[in-house]
Amino acid sequence: MKTDHVESSAPENTFAAGAAYVKGRFVPIGEAAIPMTDWGYRRSDVTYDVVGVWNGAFFRLDDHLARFEASMRALRMQPTETMAEIRAILTRCVQLLGRREAYVAMDCLRGVPRPGMPARMPGSCANHFAAFAVPWVWVVPEEVQRRGAHLIIAETPRIPDVCVDPTVKNFHWGDLTSALFEVEDKGADNALLLDMSGNLTEGPGFNAFVIKDGKVLSPDRGALEGITRKTVFELCEKLGLPFEIRPIPKAEVLDADEIFLSTTAGGIMPASRIDGRIMGNDRPGPISAELRETFWRLRAEGWHATPVEGLA
Ligand code: PLP
Repeated sequence: MKTDHVESSAPENTFAAGAAYVKGRFVPIGEAAIPMTDWGYRRSDVTYDVVGVWNGAFFRLDDHLARFEASMRALRMQPTETMAEIRAILTRCVQLLGRREAYVAMDCLRGVPRPGMPARMPGSCANHFAAFAVPWVWVVPEEVQRRGAHLIIAETPRIPDVCVDPTVKNFHWGDLTSALFEVEDKGADNALLLDMSGNLTEGPGFNAFVIKDGKVLSPDRGALEGITRKTVFELCEKLGLPFEIRPIPKAEVLDADEIFLSTTAGGIMPASRIDGRIMGNDRPGPISAELRETFWRLRAEGWHATPVEGLA
């Protein structure tokens, strides 16, 4: 890791649009490049994680690093950087960006086969770590969160979890992208995907929850084990809300009292319509709203926060 060749104190910050780390160097985001032959690009053979920075602090950084390490292990990837170095690189990217609210991504790519090694075997490849920090982005725009997202259940099923393990964060987004085409065609805000048996999984970049008769439900399989989802369960415990992790058939989704989504770059995001049906009064339901409000209040108080050193 080389950190000595960059300066962020210039009058105009060259990292203002984003700061990246790739092939051992920190560069402005627009200059960060991956070789076209990299299997990370050619085969989506990559794992990643995203941690948020809010109010100058990472949220649940240890959880994100632990999940990222588990994902790399599952894919038999080993970058040259240690986890301690990865933590320092993420911090440096945020410092260079110079923002107190940021979206921070870490990737491990398969790389290309080393010279003299079998050309088409993943074990031959030199894996490499890359990361970037950019100004905060919302997965669901704030105004949509306030009125409640209009969701559809996509016709496209989620890729079976026996084919691509959704608990290993990945770029196999073909099904999720297809669902977003359906969203565009129907003029909705976002989509939920079912598995091949018709049970709820997740959506393009978020976990999903159904509320029925005061109970918060979330799927038991077929989805990423989201860090924000884990936070929702903690909030339910704090607020005394019953929750259950179990299969949720399509009929229960369509009959929900409330639905909300969760993700790093968005927090807890209520919905107000499902497949054209208005839930409640066409606004975020009371339990979703309470969870969302409590989430942001506790975050403002520093819950699960790791301050980024050296931020103004
Ligand atoms: N599901 C998918 C497919 C995602 O891509 C994400 C986040 O990017 C999530 C769920 C939410 O996970 P987290 O709360 O850890 O951000």
